Amino acid sequence: MLKCPYCESTNNVCVSTINRATINGKQRQVNYVWRRRKCSSCGEKFTTHEKSEQEWNKEKYLDLLEKL
Ligand SMILES: [Zn+2]
Repeated sequence: MLKCPYCESTNNVCVSTINRATINGKQRQVNYVWRRRKCSSCGEKFTTHEKSEQEWNKEKYLDLLEKL
């Protein structure tokens, strides 16, 4: 669990996940992810950068497409 940089509470929720970046004006998927988190204790918002598990994401995505 991630700690809030303001109050060190681990009581926080992910409010959005971004794994795309605009490169040369085009939207590209990147192999890292930004997560916007909101601390439930102090209400501050902070961003974390994580390496995404690309293979897992790809499999998951293909699995999702098959079900559509
Ligand atoms: Zn906090």
